Amino acid sequence: MIDDEIPFIVCISTDEWSMFTDNEVGTCEECGGAVQHRPHIPRPSHLICLACWKDLFDPETDDIMVTVETIREILDWRRKQRH
Ligand SMILES: [Zn+2]
Repeated sequence: MIDDEIPFIVCISTDEWSMFTDNEVGTCEECGGAVQHRPHIPRPSHLICLACWKDLFDPETDDIMVTVETIREILDWRRKQRH
């Protein structure tokens, strides 16, 4: 039984390119596929791959959030790409 109080972290597959080189590797709880995520995700979390998430996500009832730390990392990465 999945505890709904624990957040789901939507992850990309380890086969996908990521802008980050320090991602950690985990396992999708739905399909068992290898996924990658940022090291600072809330713990504990449920890991779910993008493919499984798109089938399970209900836009009427489910919320999406991005951590402030992840947004900062993405902005920092984009700044470095310009220089
Ligand atoms: Zn999956």
